Amino acid sequence: MRLLTWDGQWGLTHEGLAADSLQTMFAIYSPAYDVSCDDEGLSRWYLLPRLLYDRLRAWEETSSSGELAWVEPKPVSHHVLVRTHSPRYVARNERMSRIDPQGGRQFFEVALYPDLLEFFLTVVGGTVLAAEKAVQSGVSAMNLAGGFHHAFRDRGGGFCVYNDIAVAAMHVLATGKAKQVLIIDCDAHQGDGTAGIFRRESRAFTFSIHNNDIFPPKKRRSDLDIALRNGTGDDEYLTRLRHGLAEVPDLPFGLVLYVAGADVHEGDSLAGLKLTTEGIAERDRLVRGFAEGRRTPVAVVTGGGYGEDTGTVLDIRENTVRTFLGASR
Ligand SMILES: [Zn+2]
Repeated sequence: MRLLTWDGQWGLTHEGLAADSLQTMFAIYSPAYDVSCDDEGLSRWYLLPRLLYDRLRAWEETSSSGELAWVEPKPVSHHVLVRTHSPRYVARNERMSRIDPQGGRQFFEVALYPDLLEFFLTVVGGTVLAAEKAVQSGVSAMNLAGGFHHAFRDRGGGFCVYNDIAVAAMHVLATGKAKQVLIIDCDAHQGDGTAGIFRRESRAFTFSIHNNDIFPPKKRRSDLDIALRNGTGDDEYLTRLRHGLAEVPDLPFGLVLYVAGADVHEGDSLAGLKLTTEGIAERDRLVRGFAEGRRTPVAVVTGGGYGEDTGTVLDIRENTVRTFLGASR
């Protein structure tokens, strides 16, 4: 087991990983992800990153087949954030969290108090770090949080303040780490913010497969949308996903950003797509197989997961980690 702390240097090289017979991936987590929330329904969701971290650390103790290279992110830098979000919007959030802790209610159901803003900034930093690690090493990386795909350039929505996926994609494009980025959004909800941000950006291809019957009420056009209905189960979902992946154009993608939402599960209280845990694991395998076929590294974010059975949500996320362990371009 290796514990790495992000210090601005690459902790592991691809060669270093390849020399190891164990399957490895980068796992991104910060104590700042462990944030409390005063909303009863949401508090369960905010606990998930720390619970997943605890579960993965316990798994590592007994695993003989894989290990995780842990990296701790810092809050995203201002100059990285404002490539995607308007400086005015960013300044307003900072001001509100300091001056008016209740002021965030127009974004989502809880106030944007300082620790919560720090949580969002650190999770965005985590997805940026996952993207950097993946493109640098060719090995998969997973942020144990993230997937805030409802945030637009100058407004939040649906529990999302900043769009970590878009910020990470813009970062690797702007710094020349990738010429093209592919976003595969398999959260149950449409990635409307991501689609809006990249509407005129030809270097980012946005693919969303989602339930059309649920939030957000107004969908935005992604480069490729697959709109499903309430009650879609494993068979139809996986068939449509397979077809969708086959439609993704053969562009020189340097990175896949994968939103592995657990809210597609049949036990989810918000999403209605009715996939089984095994169906979701097969979804992850399809995405991994697609990325390997295109020889493209993957940065994974967790997305939603609102089922009352927290153990099932954690099972789904642990399966995602196991699927992407050892995946490389
Ligand atoms: Zn969702």
